[in-house]
Amino acid sequence: MKTILVDVISEGYAYGKTYINRGIIDCKNIYEGEETEKQKLDTALNKALSELDKKGDLEEYFSIQRMILLDPVLKKNAFKLIEDKKLCALESIKLVFDEYKKNLLSSSSTYLQERIYDLEDIKRRVVRILANKKAKIPNEPFILVTDELMPTFLLEYKHIIVGIVAKKAGYMSHGAILARSYEIPFVTTDNISYIEDDNIVIDTRRKIVVTKPNKALVDEITKLSNERNSFEVVAHEGMLLLANVFGNEEIKKVKRYGCDGIGLYRTEFMFMHENRPLGFLEQKEIYTEAVKMLGDKPICFRTFDVGDDKQISYIKTHKKGFLNYVNNKELFENQIKALLASNLYGNMRIMFPMVETKEEFNYLKDWVLRIKKEINDTNHIMIGMMLETKQALLHIEEFTEADFFSIGTNDLTMELYQIRRDEIKDGVLDYLNDLLEKLKLVVAFCNKTGKCLSVCGELAAIPKANKHFMEIGIKNFSVSCSAFYDLNKSVKEELEKNNFI
Ligand code: PEP
Ligand code: MG
Repeated sequence: MKTILVDVISEGYAYGKTYINRGIIDCKNIYEGEETEKQKLDTALNKALSELDKKGDLEEYFSIQRMILLDPVLKKNAFKLIEDKKLCALESIKLVFDEYKKNLLSSSSTYLQERIYDLEDIKRRVVRILANKKAKIPNEPFILVTDELMPTFLLEYKHIIVGIVAKKAGYMSHGAILARSYEIPFVTTDNISYIEDDNIVIDTRRKIVVTKPNKALVDEITKLSNERNSFEVVAHEGMLLLANVFGNEEIKKVKRYGCDGIGLYRTEFMFMHENRPLGFLEQKEIYTEAVKMLGDKPICFRTFDVGDDKQISYIKTHKKGFLNYVNNKELFENQIKALLASNLYGNMRIMFPMVETKEEFNYLKDWVLRIKKEINDTNHIMIGMMLETKQALLHIEEFTEADFFSIGTNDLTMELYQIRRDEIKDGVLDYLNDLLEKLKLVVAFCNKTGKCLSVCGELAAIPKANKHFMEIGIKNFSVSCSAFYDLNKSVKEELEKNNFI
């Protein structure tokens, strides 16, 4: 048994066999070890050559491309990237071709410059061949050990990933948020190279990974894990313990904890999964199912929040929420119509992300109300906003038209303190006191006006921060699935401290 100290990204316990990937793991880009990558590249170059050989009368045209493929330096350079940078075959050959292209472009000879087209052509051929090669991912549950993790990989393999150990990951990166939503324990360590292709244990309570664990430890971890998955949410009069979700699948999970509803449904992820916009009927079906699952509990949908690190291939995105809607009118209107049509019990909330000014909010609210009128919808609905920009925070008193606010600490932290979401670590909250001071004004405004206030950013899930939010009078929290256990614990402790239970 060997014990490795780790930082925690997503709480929980795991025991299982590792699947080791050195490098950045994403669906198209899986590094399967030096030898495998070199072999993949060799095979792809040979396949590209044999495809060219079948071109018959275009023989002459393809002779240059054949020469490029047969150039031993091309392969040597790509192999070097595989060895030194632990890049997969696809990534390394792309880089080598790009370097060749750069060199050709800087040449003064027109003849050489025109060879760019040959290079691009042959690059595409090799990349296509490599991209079609599926990596050998285990089909049994495994603990992923990787340098870095891309959210796409997690989305694709979430059903068999029981834990994650990475060299690098930010607490608020989208990979981290997804792992917490799917209740997958996730830790980081610099000592990743000590982990072998074997069974390991992840124990986030003790902040350790243990290699080759003995039976006693495995039994203990299994017991703790079962406990974690079967707790009851504490009675918490006057408070709402809500869940952050990406899709309906997680609603099933959070429901078993007895959560009070959904505080943040991140709808953009359903748009990001597809390479096309989801139509009105498709969206309506998804939202209606979610609403039915929740019954009379509140459910808050955030209109698609894209831009920055969340890009949708088929639309032009902007940093600000508002412009994303004005410039993608049809997508926004379809989403609103589908949401309104799914508001079966009148307990739906709609909120807009990244709002900066009252003019933006009022414009979007009026837009929704206009659509509501057009379709003769008379159901009750609440329309509110995320409080996650510096400008909105500093002018909170102007947002008299908002029915509620949900504080998005992830973006707010970036805006106020220039800390990127993937740089935030759970233990480092130097800015917390300043943030709390600013939020006291928001609490006062909401108390005065009777508006509902919650925190749905990841800070709500960090016990150290959560207690302070309660101290300044915030009573509603929305967190990812895996944070429910800890949120429940810290709420219970706080209520006990104040003799409420
Ligand atoms: C936030 O910014 O705190 C938030 C909840 O939104 P997201 O993380 O989806 O940007
Ligand atoms: Mg945000």
